[in-house]
Amino acid sequence: MSVQVLAAEMAEVELKDVPSKELTPESPLTTKADDKGIVESEPKAVVTSATTPTMEPIVKTGDPSPGFLTPNTKMPQASAMKRTDPQQNGGEAFVNRDGTVAEAPRLKKQIQFADQKQEFNKRPTKIGRRSLSRSISQSSTDSYGSAASYTDSSDDETSPRDKQQKNSKGNGDFCIKNIKQADFGRREIEIAEQEMPALMALRKRAQGEKPLAGAKVVGCTHITAQTAVLMETLSALGAQCRWAACNIYSTQNEVAAALAEGGFSVFAWKGESEDDFWWCIDRCVNLEGWQPNMILDDGGDLTHWIYKKYPNMFKKIKGIVEESVTGVHRLYQLSKAGKLCVPAMNVNDSVTKQKFDNLYCCRESILDGLKRTTDVMFGGKQVVVCGYGEVGKGCCAALKAMGSIVYVTEIDPICALQACMDGFRLVKLNEVIRQVDIVITCTGNKNVVVREYLDRMKNGCIVCNMGHSNTEIDVASLRTPELTWERVRSQVDHVIWPDGKRIVLLAEGRLLNLSCSTVPTFVLSITATTQALALIELYNAPEGRYKQDVYLLPKKMDEYVASLHLPTFDAHLTELSDEQAKYLGLNKNGPFKPNYYRY
Ligand code: NAD
Repeated sequence: MSVQVLAAEMAEVELKDVPSKELTPESPLTTKADDKGIVESEPKAVVTSATTPTMEPIVKTGDPSPGFLTPNTKMPQASAMKRTDPQQNGGEAFVNRDGTVAEAPRLKKQIQFADQKQEFNKRPTKIGRRSLSRSISQSSTDSYGSAASYTDSSDDETSPRDKQQKNSKGNGDFCIKNIKQADFGRREIEIAEQEMPALMALRKRAQGEKPLAGAKVVGCTHITAQTAVLMETLSALGAQCRWAACNIYSTQNEVAAALAEGGFSVFAWKGESEDDFWWCIDRCVNLEGWQPNMILDDGGDLTHWIYKKYPNMFKKIKGIVEESVTGVHRLYQLSKAGKLCVPAMNVNDSVTKQKFDNLYCCRESILDGLKRTTDVMFGGKQVVVCGYGEVGKGCCAALKAMGSIVYVTEIDPICALQACMDGFRLVKLNEVIRQVDIVITCTGNKNVVVREYLDRMKNGCIVCNMGHSNTEIDVASLRTPELTWERVRSQVDHVIWPDGKRIVLLAEGRLLNLSCSTVPTFVLSITATTQALALIELYNAPEGRYKQDVYLLPKKMDEYVASLHLPTFDAHLTELSDEQAKYLGLNKNGPFKPNYYRY
């Protein structure tokens, strides 16, 4: 089955738990698949109300192959999502597991986008080049060490903007640290390919067909080996790509070099200034004779830049795919204000992102982050984990498996009960704060660990955050004259009280794993595959399928992404018999769960 057909079919997914009146646009029965000479013979799926959580039987009449994805797409739109506006309530809007949106008044810090009046700033370099500047998003400046370059190019102080570099074919349409690192970067990419089976499968499945032929994708993501595998997949599917980094610290210089050597127009290096950051984005977008028609963004900065500087480009842009919480919020805000010019896909809230990234990624990287920074032994240590959501569950599971004694704090009785039944002691922070060896925050909230608690911790207590940005630990309260700060390692500070007590603060309260450890490639593969499919879908969608709104990915797409990763484990999926499918009221090929299912 071809990727293009797949994409068209995946779009045709029923959403049973959203009232039908809110589901637009109607997908025409004639889709891109028809264009390819494939006749859609599925009857239209029944859309039932959220108040009717039963699955209607779908009789399949013409599906030629198992694994084929069912027709009849209806995707929830932003207008149907009732996403709250953080600007108004000081809170964060969350898409629930069931696709509805809930208000979460947690975050004081709002998504900051540039003041429209801000202009190109003087860049503090030798040549005083003028560049582009505004307050960049929090995520673009969060320290991010997981993708740290393995080669050391720190001795080369020359700004990449001041270098004239060309690849071996004489192409100089890129700006990176050092093209000579390309071979090393190529090896990094090859290692990542081993753990990104679904993208490699997509490349194979595309065969001669190019579902992204003619696509001009401008991207702004972390530039790592994993992103390189995504970019090279998009290219294999027919797309042209120009790319900038979404974070000033996260670029793997050698990977950027390998991409540039391979002919990709990459503008990124580790340790960009804020000014460089915008300059790189502008170089991706602002090119004579080339206009993007797709956006792949992580954080919303690229989308913002095009809105601000090149709004006319949206005439040619077919869609935006956005990965991050921040960027998705911004898209919903635009949609609410009626300013979103093109359809957008919210990848962040897909099941495959939420369930795998938050839970499994953190389950692995919490240990890695703690070990790399402190060399702590986990066995027998007393740890308190604040918040028992996806991230908290991952952290607790990992620490428990290592023999730590784990306490949990929660505000939500349901998550609290889960913690209890998973075998953790539910406590208030003040009950254990004097005795614990490690404190980990994962609440998405602010001021969970305040000065009062920091004062009461025992000598040597390790304090770190796996949750939102740098708001959970009140680090500012530690910057007082009576406390001494001692940087003992990169990302490790000892904060010393007058009596000699010291606590070990990691990454200054920023996300530990993003700052101090690696993130498993396999998890990134799941997200990257979802991004690729979202691009294919938006690019190939017939006129009218998507309006200028924000869409969640159809569950079928999530299921397809998961299925592409199963062969790695030699996993054998059970198929429904006809009788069983009828009994459960399911299509044999999915979707297997209603949207309100929580996994
Ligand atoms: P979640 O909503 O599933 O879990 C957070 C939990 O914290 C909830 O159960 C909530 O009831 C609880 N909580 C809120 N305030 C609390 C308080 N004061 N004390 C105790 N518990 C409290 O969210 P999640 O998916 O677990 O994500 C948590 C945070 O981690 C978010 O900010 C998210 O953006 C971030 N995150 C980090 C990573 C990473 O790699 N480090 C990955 C994904 C998400």
